[in-house]
Amino acid sequence: MAKQGNIQIASENMMPIIKKWLYSDKDIFLREIVANGVDAITKYKKLVEMGEAKGGNDEHFCIKISADKDAKTLTVEDNGIGMSEEEVEKYITQIAFSGAADFLAKYEKAGGDGIIGHFGLGFYSAYMVSENIEIFTRSYREGAKGVHWESDGESTYTIEDGDKAERGTKIVMHIADEEKEFLDEGRIRSLIEKYCAFMPYDIYYNFTGKEDKPLNDTHPLYLKNPKDCTEEEYKEFYRKTFHDYHDPLFWIHLNMEYPFRLKGILYFPKVKSKAELERGKVKLYCNQVYIADNIKEVIPEFLTLLNGVIDCPDIPLNVSRSFLQNDRQVQKISRHITKKVADKLTGLFKTDREKYVQCWNDISVFIKLGCIKDEDFYSKVKDCIIFKDLNGEYKNLEEYIGKKREEDTPAEDKPDAAADKEEEKKEEQPVTVYYVSDEVGQAQYIEMFKKAGLNAIVCDTFIDTHFISYLEYKEPTKMRFLRIDADVDAALKGEEGSEEADKALTEAFKAALKNTEVAVKAERLKDGNVPAIINVSEFSRRFGEMNAFYGLAGADADRDMTLILNTANPVIAAFTGLDEEKKNFVANQVYYMARLAYKKLSPEEMKAFAENNASLLKNYIEK
Ligand code: ADP
Ligand code: MG
Repeated sequence: MAKQGNIQIASENMMPIIKKWLYSDKDIFLREIVANGVDAITKYKKLVEMGEAKGGNDEHFCIKISADKDAKTLTVEDNGIGMSEEEVEKYITQIAFSGAADFLAKYEKAGGDGIIGHFGLGFYSAYMVSENIEIFTRSYREGAKGVHWESDGESTYTIEDGDKAERGTKIVMHIADEEKEFLDEGRIRSLIEKYCAFMPYDIYYNFTGKEDKPLNDTHPLYLKNPKDCTEEEYKEFYRKTFHDYHDPLFWIHLNMEYPFRLKGILYFPKVKSKAELERGKVKLYCNQVYIADNIKEVIPEFLTLLNGVIDCPDIPLNVSRSFLQNDRQVQKISRHITKKVADKLTGLFKTDREKYVQCWNDISVFIKLGCIKDEDFYSKVKDCIIFKDLNGEYKNLEEYIGKKREEDTPAEDKPDAAADKEEEKKEEQPVTVYYVSDEVGQAQYIEMFKKAGLNAIVCDTFIDTHFISYLEYKEPTKMRFLRIDADVDAALKGEEGSEEADKALTEAFKAALKNTEVAVKAERLKDGNVPAIINVSEFSRRFGEMNAFYGLAGADADRDMTLILNTANPVIAAFTGLDEEKKNFVANQVYYMARLAYKKLSPEEMKAFAENNASLLKNYIEK
């Protein structure tokens, strides 16, 4: 006779809430059911080990999954410890259901979205997709009878003798009509791949008994001792786990037992674009059971630009995220991971500079972001931040500035011991570091710099404006950054001309310029080829770029633009002597050319420039 019972927890209210709140994370049910099978096998093996259960030595411990679309059932079967009738009553009807109620209370407290991986819901989570669940189980104990339990998860259940012949448990989920996707083989396989990839016993789909291959890797590489792993194994594991067919640049194998357990591998991927952040994936596991990706409480957010697996059995899981954030242990784990990454980078920088430079384009955004987000990280890796200069050499700022200081100090007054004090003073003056943000767009300026024997660094990733501001903030006495078009360095200038002549020139030029409010200044440059260049104040431009980065208004990066007229250029030198019509034509043409070399023209300006050019050509052939 089947025994009937009422489920004592107020579960009739639970289902609708669970279904609603966990809607997007329903997937986890399969992990929970399979993980229970894993636990059951582990328990059984323990009993055998302790001599409390017989056999099991050459038994193939595994979990078999199958789906039947006609019967609308999804079945998960293990050969673990099994349950007696009393145990089913206790562990399923009481514990599993009250566990779910507990979970729900925590979930509510955490604001509905706070519990990572939704741990704690356990067996009950299968009701998110099932209208009815049957359990067929048989305890490991000698002479145990099979048990059959069944419930719709809402209010009542039945329990009776069942016909399970073998030790273990079979969970049969009657999938609800609206959840029938969970009967699709492809869907099931992908869930297993996501949640159960590294579970410790073989998992099969539609086990036939003949040469079946398990879906999971029961001994994932990250659990091995790093000294037993080969380069090819690391790459293979990367390909399989992240489906990235580009080899990773390098990796870090974490392997720690004390004061907390932490195993895993972090890979530095090749990046495909330097224009945007490419989010990686750091998968978090707990004892080989997948929890979630990119849990920022455990893995600092900037590290999620990497790809990796982290297995942390010591993380408390059925707690809210805000709890995790304040958990000392979790903070220690997070700091440890960051430190390991910094160690790897500094190690590589010191021991294999060539490889480091080769990887630099792929890792620079990651490192810069890490520095901005985490001061500790910055102080650890700051000497490994390198920049390409105009000669194509990569140097860190210390090397770059050191060299620049030497160059700036003429040989005869190089400080000697007696002038130590003098030198100290000098140290406090920030060194001006010129940078290029667009090697093509700023080609004209670069050309002038090179001719004058000046150097600059290339800062052309989207994060660089932020990063150099960050560096100035961290090292205010060390350096300040100026874009190559922000002002005219003394080294570019020749002898100064007469103040009066310069004034006459700028006034005449301004008067001749149509429709533009640009400031005009005269300078005598060493290089007479260029009639004029545009300078834009570093501060205004950077301010505009920051605003644009955050999508704010007022992002006019061209405010504070100055047109520098080069009095060493023959056209400019002749300017004041021209007639009104020529002044007008030349002034605008010079301005457009300078603007083009700095940045695009507006559509109206482009049109006027094109017209001027056409008439120039006409005059040229008629000459
Ligand atoms: P948890 O796994 O966190 O204990 P669950 O709700 O997943 O919570 O399961 C409740 C209990 O039911 C388990 O602790 C276990 O005793 C029992 N149980 C569930 N599934 C199985 C199984 N496949 N084999 C044996 N016992 C099981
Ligand atoms: Mg469980």
